[in-house]
Amino acid sequence: MDSRDELLGQRIAGLERRIAYLERIVKVSQILNSTLSLEPLLRIIIQSATELTHTEACSIMLLDKRTGELTFSHSVGHGSEGLRDVTVPLDNSIAGWIVRKGKPLLIRDAKNDPRWHSQVDMTIDFDTRSILGVPLKVKDQIIGVMELLNKIDEQGFSQDDIQIASTLAAQAAIAIENARLLDELQRAYDELAELDRLKSDFVSIASHELRTPLAVILGYASFLREEVSGEAGEQLSAVLQSALRLRSIIDDMVNLRHVETGEIQLERDIFSMTELISEVTGEFNQLARAKQQMVRLELPDDPLKIDADRQKLYLVLANLLSNAVKFTSPQGRVQVSAERKGEEIWIAVMDTGVGIPERDLDRIFTRFYQVEPTLTRRYEGMGLGLSIVKSMVELHNGRIWVESVVGKGSRFTVVLPVSPYNAEPIAETASNS
Ligand code: ADP
Repeated sequence: MDSRDELLGQRIAGLERRIAYLERIVKVSQILNSTLSLEPLLRIIIQSATELTHTEACSIMLLDKRTGELTFSHSVGHGSEGLRDVTVPLDNSIAGWIVRKGKPLLIRDAKNDPRWHSQVDMTIDFDTRSILGVPLKVKDQIIGVMELLNKIDEQGFSQDDIQIASTLAAQAAIAIENARLLDELQRAYDELAELDRLKSDFVSIASHELRTPLAVILGYASFLREEVSGEAGEQLSAVLQSALRLRSIIDDMVNLRHVETGEIQLERDIFSMTELISEVTGEFNQLARAKQQMVRLELPDDPLKIDADRQKLYLVLANLLSNAVKFTSPQGRVQVSAERKGEEIWIAVMDTGVGIPERDLDRIFTRFYQVEPTLTRRYEGMGLGLSIVKSMVELHNGRIWVESVVGKGSRFTVVLPVSPYNAEPIAETASNS
């Protein structure tokens, strides 16, 4: 073989090494992108580092900012199992020097270097000869060190080795940072969940405690309202109205909690939807009349039998009607209609009220969302009603949406399956009986 062949052979071997190195880096990057679990990733990184640099051992040490010490987190090589959690001081150690200077360090003869910390070798019965250490950096912060020990080839560490070690160390640093961020996020979620639990407990205790005295107030106020007339009677009406309003707020809070905790269950019954609509509308008639509003009902002769939870659908209709009356000015109109379309009942609650801007059409169904800012709003309410309505409708496998033009009015449509669970349409059962 002449010298040209030899040179070519060397260049090919060099290129092969480079390809192997690049392949490994690509593999590590792929794993880094596809996993959030740190353990297997760091194992692959240190394993790749020793193989690509032809070294006997590799370790990752992480800096504990509180104690100012470096702790072994992952290692491969002789005795590596004994290294976990072993600490190294920042002073008088090679790893400490790398952390403080923030740059790689190559030592051909470790034992004769004054910075060498011999304690670790003694702990695991290892014989360190040469060291290549690189810092683990996250942005400008050094979070640890990766060290490669004892180059197997005679010629010692090369410039390529420094590059391999630095690239793999950068990937290890990203993986460690990702894991730390994930951990922080998880902790924040846990705290949030705990706060949410405390809030729910508070709501349930508060609403329970408020209900009892309120029932007494309502009882006495209703009784006295029957007995007393004149100005005092009007004042009692105001007391009664406020107490009823308080009760509806407490009911909303209780319902919200039930929805949130998933404690809510359907108590199904077969009943007439037209009857339920007439009943609820009747209850709002007085309120509408007080505002000189006209309430119209457009119902078919078909009783629109449905297999559903009557009380929950009562709540749905009551909330929609209450909003329709509330957000419509005096002399306005409110209309409720219902019809059967195939295996569904379509109910529409329309008003000629203030309307809802387009950007808020979806948002009004989220908890505590109100179109007007709370402090300047003209209408009472907590922004809870529609979120509860939506949950109740969805619990029935139904759907709800709103169409609206600001200044002209709104139309809420509720679509409910005639029978959410039965394959048999219940209208046939009803007509057979
Ligand atoms: P609130 O207790 O505030 O009425 P809801 O959840 O029932 O809470 O409604 C949320 C918001 O949606 C209301 O504050 C209001 O801004 C808007 N909204 C609901 N119904 C109507 C309606 N019929 N007309 C106009 N705006 C409405």
